[in-house]
Amino acid sequence: MIEIKNIRKNFGKNEVLKNINTEIKKGDKVVIIGPSGSGKSTLLRCMNLLETPTSGSIIFQGDHITDKKTDINKIRQRMGMVFQHFNLFPHLTVLENIVLAPVKLNLQTKEEAKENALKLLERIGLSDKKDEYPALLSGGQKQRIAIVRSLAMKPEIMLFDEPTSALDPEMIGEVLKLMKDLAEEGMTMVVVTHEMGFAKSVANRILFMDEGQILEENNPQDFFSNPVHDRSKEFLSKIL
Ligand code: ADP
Ligand code: MG
Repeated sequence: MIEIKNIRKNFGKNEVLKNINTEIKKGDKVVIIGPSGSGKSTLLRCMNLLETPTSGSIIFQGDHITDKKTDINKIRQRMGMVFQHFNLFPHLTVLENIVLAPVKLNLQTKEEAKENALKLLERIGLSDKKDEYPALLSGGQKQRIAIVRSLAMKPEIMLFDEPTSALDPEMIGEVLKLMKDLAEEGMTMVVVTHEMGFAKSVANRILFMDEGQILEENNPQDFFSNPVHDRSKEFLSKIL
């Protein structure tokens, strides 16, 4: 689904991605872990060109997204992204937040989008919040709505950047549960997270990043029980 070839990214003199090569297959659940500042977010943001790689190429379902001729907005419609901070539009109700993009981009009629949004809200048990404004919701509710807002676009892949890091502990579970359900339904997912329980139970692959490189790439069983690299051992010893 995504091929990442020789990606480098510089911010000024700071090289934050150093020759990254990997691929995401359809149905993959890839969890990216690693210390703060190791380039996890930058790599994820390169996948939908929120950051432009300094060199290298990214191919999404056959389209070279790093090619200047590619219409990245069209590509992004097929990729959902969820951030640490929910980024809901504060001046729109929950329902308006969810229907906005599919209607604005002419992908669904207003009626279709509304019907779809109501189904999504029902699925997460928040139908009664459809006319509320985001400010009145809990962090866990906002994040689940941000996730279904992405799903309303019927994406091929979902990218998550620390979706539970800004949440109070008691709200983390409900968000992880929704992500786990999506995984079980077969959604292709790339998730940056520090939730090791989620990584162990949901991921089929772990990428461990350090200082702009993928130091280790393995299935969760082997990665967690037998990390090979000293840096992965050290990282795991600190967080587990
Ligand atoms: P992580 O998500 O693993 O914590 P990031 O990808 O956010 O790491 O950051 C990797 C490095 O790139 C850090 O040194 C960070 O300071 C730097 N960086 C990230 N975004 C920018 C930016 N927009 N401008 C300059 N430096 C940045
Ligand atoms: Mg980050």
